[in-house]
Amino acid sequence: MKTAEIAQRYLDYFEKNGHTIVPSASLVTDDPALLFTVAGMVPFIPYLSGDVPAPYPRAADNQKCIRLNDIEEVGKTPRHGTFFQMLGNWSFGDYFKEGAIRYAWDLLTASEAEGGLGFDPKDLWVTVYEEDDEAHDLWLELTDLPAERIQRLGKDTNYWSTGLPGPAGPCSEIFFDRGPAYGVDGGPATDDDRYVEIWNLVFMQYEITNVRSKYDFDIVGELPNKNIDTGMGLERIAFIKQGVDNMYETDQVRPVLDRAVALSGRTYGANHDDDVRFRVVADHVRSSLMLMTDGVTPSNDGRGYILRRLMRRAIRSMRQLGVEGPTFAELFAASRDAMKDVYPEVETDYARISQYALAEEETFLRTLAAGSSILEDSVAQTKRDGGTALTGAEAFLLHDTYGFPIDLTLEIAEEAGLTVDRAAFDTLMQEQRARAKADARSRKRQLADTSVYRDFRAKGETVFTGYTDLETESRVL
Ligand code: ATP
Ligand code: MG
Ligand code: MG
Ligand code: MG
Repeated sequence: MKTAEIAQRYLDYFEKNGHTIVPSASLVTDDPALLFTVAGMVPFIPYLSGDVPAPYPRAADNQKCIRLNDIEEVGKTPRHGTFFQMLGNWSFGDYFKEGAIRYAWDLLTASEAEGGLGFDPKDLWVTVYEEDDEAHDLWLELTDLPAERIQRLGKDTNYWSTGLPGPAGPCSEIFFDRGPAYGVDGGPATDDDRYVEIWNLVFMQYEITNVRSKYDFDIVGELPNKNIDTGMGLERIAFIKQGVDNMYETDQVRPVLDRAVALSGRTYGANHDDDVRFRVVADHVRSSLMLMTDGVTPSNDGRGYILRRLMRRAIRSMRQLGVEGPTFAELFAASRDAMKDVYPEVETDYARISQYALAEEETFLRTLAAGSSILEDSVAQTKRDGGTALTGAEAFLLHDTYGFPIDLTLEIAEEAGLTVDRAAFDTLMQEQRARAKADARSRKRQLADTSVYRDFRAKGETVFTGYTDLETESRVL
């Protein structure tokens, strides 16, 4: 079953059950504090919070998402993409737990011939919040799940709140069992490699106050209008239905992976580290393509910086796979072709997108060529001397003379088993900034017209901390 067909089945099912189908919102949010759409709920926040009356009692959608806080998982787990699509069904004060559980179970287990997804109930497990007896009993009553396959878990996995006063409530999650070849028996509470989370049902039930932390607050009472918010990972369903090992091998991603393999001349499946790199390339190229389609362009801060980092990571991974020259022309075209049926704009807008991608690649390859051998020499020298860290001066020279970003120096040093004297690097950066400022001031005194010296103003080092996820409020990328 192709990824697009799974999405269509989902939307058809909920439309048939009275839901209004809503198109995906952009990956770029209106809220400057929240950089990207990280979950299906983001565009519905005004309705869920009660600030704006929902224009429909029920809705369903297939929302494009970006989650940077999963970047370290990409390629290592089978299930984390930086870009992915979250299918969702929504009830705004309409049906509640019983409806959400019935619909989810019915769609998952109805046969393919009936329009369902054809899961064998024996492969499914669910979790509920440990105090949510109501959800527990509904699963028992409404489905053929035996009690052993309904596990109770704590707030850290099975409770939703924004960390602010307002709506909150327990969740119930559905998992697919990949079988004993993938890990130990015992359900999702014991192993998240074997049991893949496929669908999260959030029951927005309470109003909370006195929020001391995300999971520590007082409940004011039941909400007058209880809402349902669900999220099903399209790529996760796709990899299970397509009988492949992970989401990077599904029809919308695999063609990019194959292209990377062909360009490298290596084999996929022969070496674990290489396999992770191939998957990172496939994931990051697709995420970059989708971000640029939604209007993000590479830059040194904010959203553009995240895009830049994704592209640079893909380029670095290709180099680690033994390819020194440019690859983006082929990789982005492969991703475009895999995505264009569902997102025609990746094709109609491709000339613009590929210009950005190719320019970014050219610049970064030049930077890498200039800095890499210097860095390798420093690494080798440090090791010969029995040291464990590169000096701040070495990192600063790379930054200052070769435009080599500090995060890249850190990454390459780490791969070589070394650290970097970050404090010394930061001091040198500060000194440089102070020098630039003093310089600008003295020039200003000398000249009446200072406008041409605006560029002398010290440029701040870009370390971005922002909202990349609703759960982990902020992180440094
Ligand atoms: P996990 O525990 O596997 O990281 P999650 O609990 O963070 O998932 P939710 O926030 O509950 O995920 O999101 C709802 C659904 O979206 C998940 O059940 C999953 O199917 C899907 N999903 C979440 N993160 C990703 C991702 N990085 N890539 C692909 N699908 C994802
Ligand atoms: Mg997660
Ligand atoms: Mg989870
Ligand atoms: Mg979850």
